Amino acid sequence: MKQPTYVLDTSALLSGKPISISGSLLVTTPKVAAELRPGGRDYRAFQLLREKGLCIFEPTAASLARCRDAATRSGDIGRLSPTDLEVLAVALDINENPEQEAVVLSDDYSIQNLADMLHVKYLGVSQDGITRQITWVVSCPGCGRRFAEKTSVCPVCGTTTRVTAQRKARLHGRTGTEQGRKDNKV
Ligand SMILES: [Zn+2]
Repeated sequence: MKQPTYVLDTSALLSGKPISISGSLLVTTPKVAAELRPGGRDYRAFQLLREKGLCIFEPTAASLARCRDAATRSGDIGRLSPTDLEVLAVALDINENPEQEAVVLSDDYSIQNLADMLHVKYLGVSQDGITRQITWVVSCPGCGRRFAEKTSVCPVCGTTTRVTAQRKARLHGRTGTEQGRKDNKV
């Protein structure tokens, strides 16, 4: 059975929600840590988590590149900060370890969407998790073409493109434990 490792983004750290750390590993990234200003209440909560074992992992360049590629393909790249990409890249690095499984804790919709694309588990902090996945579609209002790459100008007719969200209704069962049972052989 894989050990869940929770990767916290800034929204998770700022949520003010009590984060239970009994028995699970908690991880965040240098850029998330840098977004918390010393002195505030959130920073004290962060320091407390650090004392209780919150680790700060730096992602590998390879995982960062994978995240950037996926975000470009999904059209999320414009909505994701370098900090967001770092969080997802650390999750990919953790998943390289066959004994661990990263679960990203984030209320950020673009992070959740990209996590889905990268087959990384996630949980919302202030909601129960999203039930839809959004794909950002780049289209040209001039000629009606759609593009997989995020391009600001249509390469066919030169019109400025438009980015729209396309929602796919779905259940996000990946954070569940539905696989837990069938491993019990008699
Ligand atoms: Zn066009």
